[in-house]
Amino acid sequence: EAPIHVVGGGLAGSEAAWQIAQAGLPVILHEMRPVRGTEAHKTDGLAELVCSNSFRSDDATANAVGVLHAEMRLAGSLIMATADRHQVPAGGALAVDREGFSAAVSQALAEHPLATIERGEVEGLPPQEWGTTIVATGPLTAPSLAEAIRAATGADALAFFDAIAPIVHFDSIDMDKAWFQSRYDKVGPGGTGKDYVNCPLDRETYERFVAALAEGDRTEFKEWEGTPYFDGCLPIEVMAERGPETLRHGPMKPMGLTNAHQPDVKPYAVVQLRQDNALGTLYNMVGFQTKLRYGAQADIFRMIPGLENAEFARLGGLHRNTYLNSPVLLDPTLRLRARPHLRFAGQITGCEGYVESAAVGLMAGRFTSAERRGRTLHAPPDTTATGALLAHITGGHLAHEEDGGKRSFQPMNVNFGLFAPLEPGAIQKPEGQKRFRGKEKAAAKKSALCRRALADFAAWLERAPDTALAAE
Ligand code: FAD
Repeated sequence: EAPIHVVGGGLAGSEAAWQIAQAGLPVILHEMRPVRGTEAHKTDGLAELVCSNSFRSDDATANAVGVLHAEMRLAGSLIMATADRHQVPAGGALAVDREGFSAAVSQALAEHPLATIERGEVEGLPPQEWGTTIVATGPLTAPSLAEAIRAATGADALAFFDAIAPIVHFDSIDMDKAWFQSRYDKVGPGGTGKDYVNCPLDRETYERFVAALAEGDRTEFKEWEGTPYFDGCLPIEVMAERGPETLRHGPMKPMGLTNAHQPDVKPYAVVQLRQDNALGTLYNMVGFQTKLRYGAQADIFRMIPGLENAEFARLGGLHRNTYLNSPVLLDPTLRLRARPHLRFAGQITGCEGYVESAAVGLMAGRFTSAERRGRTLHAPPDTTATGALLAHITGGHLAHEEDGGKRSFQPMNVNFGLFAPLEPGAIQKPEGQKRFRGKEKAAAKKSALCRRALADFAAWLERAPDTALAAE
């Protein structure tokens, strides 16, 4: 039988190759290291962790990435089974011995009778004669392949940096201070004239806020990253440094907005947040891409009236990161619509993080195996962590007209904001208690989302064609 090719032996590619081999199909995994390196990898091991050694929370009763761990274990994930075996103490987090972990992933694939590892760079697009191929070359995809993907998909389809504005859980915004309104009540396509959440700042708050931004602790670009500032995408703190008025004439301009709570008081400046997912559970801070350190971001952004108790689904950033405009380019099973023999996996699809990349690799492997067997495998529902992540990548994200529907797709970790909301009545007040306390309610909600995800994922696995055996 002709082998399936996987390009890139990172977190996603290793998991995809494993899933294919475990499904009983031959697979060739192409990894360019050590023939060619990247700016961040240091070894020639498969699934090398380039920075932290943590897979984050392992709590499948209260944490979205913990649920993703649990779903991957159910699906026989090599990455999770290996992480479990090479765990180091880290409280509630799952952290691993990076060398032992990478060596064990490399060994498992090297010893699998159906897997072959080929060392060498795949230059340009994988050749047609390979047939169905998974591309999992990650945030630091080698330039010749990146250029070929860009040529095949269009100039704006592949980003080389992420410019990420913080994303806030809607239910943590204080709507007694913030209000819904589009600038000048403009009704765009599909809009209502009330599409943005607006947070007002008076002069004193604005001046303190701008000073805090300009002084905020920030990270620097690594030498190899260059300085990717381009028009319309300056970090918010760089704008703040340019003078006290810059932001008020830029992303924080108050024009065309009337404070619904105090119509007579003209705001001195306004922070706008825009709906970020179709479910309306997440909002991004428009124009707030930043290189401030995470701790500084949370402190400074909570100075904004309405965001005092903001919970961030992700904080802002600006890094070297090669990723596709997936909601436009990929179909629901991660195939490039224009060239369906190419399927993408891992961070290049616009997920973020080791675990998420491996989870998307797992699904790419399963989709490909099912297809080879002539079966159709549907993605898990968006009540599951895996399904929610896939929905974010392949379609759940809203494209925005004013960005040309392009730049607004930004990489993201898995989080509860991506999950389908709970059905009404899904959580009950503790018995004998009149009111739900805020914290109790949030905890009950998380726990219900986790239980539903695991039950739905198990049911999906049962229905899904038998494309993979459990990990030993
Ligand atoms: P990778 O793991 O990068 O794997 C891609 C593989 O493809 C690499 O082995 C590469 O050598 C190979 N390759 C590339 N081009 C070719 C080609 N043309 N031919 C053959 N092989 C090729 N995530 C976290 O969760 N925690 C962190 O602390 C963290 N820190 C990070 C720090 C940096 C500097 C970077 C760049 C990323 C970081 N990430 C972190 C994100 C992390 O890279 C991803 O989460 C994860 O490694 C992506 O998995 P992947 O499989 O998509 O890509």
